[in-house]
Amino acid sequence: MNKVAFVTVASFLTQRKIQLQSAGDSQHIYYKLKSREEHLADALQNEYDVIIVGGGATGAGVSLACANRGLKSIVLESKDYASGASSKSTKLVHGGVRYMQQIFQLSEKNRMEKWELVAESLRERSNFLSMCSYLTQDFPTLIPCTNLFDLGYYYFGSLIYHCVYLYYQTGGHTFKPPRIVGKEEIQQHFKYAKCNYGVIYYDGQFNDARMVQELLVTSSLKGQNMANYVEVKGLLKNEQNKIVGVQAFDKIGQKQFQIKGKCVVNATGGWADNLRLMDDPTVSKRIVSVAGSHLTMPQKYGSRHWGYLIPKTNDGRVLYMVPWQGNMIMGTTERKLENPTHDPTVSHEEYMWLLKSFCDEFAVDASEAARDVKSKWCGVRPLVYSSNALSTKEVSRTHEIEVSKSGLISVMGGKWTIFRLMGEQTVDKVQELIGNKQKRIENLPKLVGDWTQFDHRKEIQIMMKMFDLPQSYAAYFLTTYGDRAYDVLKLIYENPENKESLHPQFPHTVGEILYQIRYEQARKPEDILFRRTRLGFLDQNAIFTVYEKVFQIMAKELKWSDKFQQQFLKENFEYIRKLEF
Ligand SMILES: Cc1cc2nc3c(=O)[nH]c(=O)nc-3n(C[C@H](O)[C@H](O)[C@H](O)COP(=O)(O)OP(=O)(O)OC[C@H]3O[C@@H](n4cnc5c(N)ncnc54)[C@H](O)[C@@H]3O)c2cc1C
Repeated sequence: MNKVAFVTVASFLTQRKIQLQSAGDSQHIYYKLKSREEHLADALQNEYDVIIVGGGATGAGVSLACANRGLKSIVLESKDYASGASSKSTKLVHGGVRYMQQIFQLSEKNRMEKWELVAESLRERSNFLSMCSYLTQDFPTLIPCTNLFDLGYYYFGSLIYHCVYLYYQTGGHTFKPPRIVGKEEIQQHFKYAKCNYGVIYYDGQFNDARMVQELLVTSSLKGQNMANYVEVKGLLKNEQNKIVGVQAFDKIGQKQFQIKGKCVVNATGGWADNLRLMDDPTVSKRIVSVAGSHLTMPQKYGSRHWGYLIPKTNDGRVLYMVPWQGNMIMGTTERKLENPTHDPTVSHEEYMWLLKSFCDEFAVDASEAARDVKSKWCGVRPLVYSSNALSTKEVSRTHEIEVSKSGLISVMGGKWTIFRLMGEQTVDKVQELIGNKQKRIENLPKLVGDWTQFDHRKEIQIMMKMFDLPQSYAAYFLTTYGDRAYDVLKLIYENPENKESLHPQFPHTVGEILYQIRYEQARKPEDILFRRTRLGFLDQNAIFTVYEKVFQIMAKELKWSDKFQQQFLKENFEYIRKLEF
């Protein structure tokens, strides 16, 4: 970076800092974030109100609710944050149109439960989008129709969905009503679509793994602690058999230690039964793990802005096609797993079903579509089992919070859309247990990068000018880090080496990776490749191109010994090779 540009950037950042300080937010421009090691050092000294086990959507939501009620918490995640289901979702912030549809089916037995599920999700959908405008967006979805009966059916169904939203609206974000669209408009978005008309309804969309990161960063700035690669191996109990802490193992530092806390929240998703059984070996299992797979296709197959919902594929299942980060993702499947592994792979049947359903719907060449698949992934959906359910379809889609005799609070089931509500309700239980009376905060908490309702377009223009960035790159930084983008860009521009690009088709540079290591606890290449950046989900070939460079940056920054590097390289490369087609 030349001297003039450096002076301009520095003076811009100083001006902005003054502007922000005068707005009463002194910590703003250079967010003071702790490293993983500083969080762990705190853990050894503190006694926590709440120890949260699991660093996915649920654990991050509980952490934020603790922060907002003045409780001191720590999140312990045995792998990387969001490495479970929370990075592998369809990325929809939704009320669940298909549950809405089920409410009106004569055969439906749990009508009330489904109604509550939809109403609750629609309320949370607005909250979600208004908490974090930079990582989320409105998302029009097309339901294609082949006859007028279907058109009427889906239009009125979507209208009821919209009316339920209006009825339960809690302020915050507003969604447009559904509308009917014709062939011409459909063709502008989906050039391979065969249908002549359809219905557009609105939901929200987001970047799931980045959302966990933003939640945790926000909590951290409010005094909470968190550490990834720390597995909870046991529960500490007192003489009255009440939980007083956990036995933890730091997988990076290879150290066993104890953390003291007044209560423990089990937010381990698909693995919640393990902790429940650790607490009480006599309890019956409550979690049904259902695997769901997705494929990533190039954007040419879909629209830049619209999603596409096939309400009934050839075998009756629903399939979404969602524009995401310049590509199109499609999913999801449902496959019951007896013993869920952390990273289940996409089975051959699922892969073929997804491709076939796609090719049945669109006028595309099947072999070309198969060649064009850019990535595939599979996640474990943690559903709560009720004893009379016979199939996964009957397992409840709601969430449940269970408090054991010894005080383990297990929050199970649910979905990404309602993480905030799950967090608040869990902390209600925490307060009952530890006798704290601090009320929920009235206003919706904003996430760190969303400190003000900044004008995205204006902000992108500023970034393009200040940092000489193409529009797409400026948009990437803003929609990934929000206002924190200036901190990332500052690091990139601090040193000419940090500007080195990792891949010609992606905006990632050495400086961004350094930021993710220093301030977002990235500790393995996969953390960078899959969750801090989303490369692995977007283009699996790209990660083979950048793997070595990312590895070198990490080795230098984290001062890995030769022995450690060799062990890591082998372990990680095997992990990544599993992804190969
Ligand atoms: C295919 C698929 C698509 C989905 N699509 C959507 C969608 O579009 N919209 C939506 O709203 N929801 C969606 N969901 C649901 C949503 O993703 C999940 O409900 C949510 O991510 C669950 O979050 P979690 O934190 O409970 O679980 P997870 O994200 O799985 O997190 C649990 C964490 O606990 C950790 N852990 C386990 N044991 C221990 C231990 N002993 N010590 C420390 N840590 C431990 C694990 O490593 C894991 O990271 C989808 C789910 C799937 C699978």
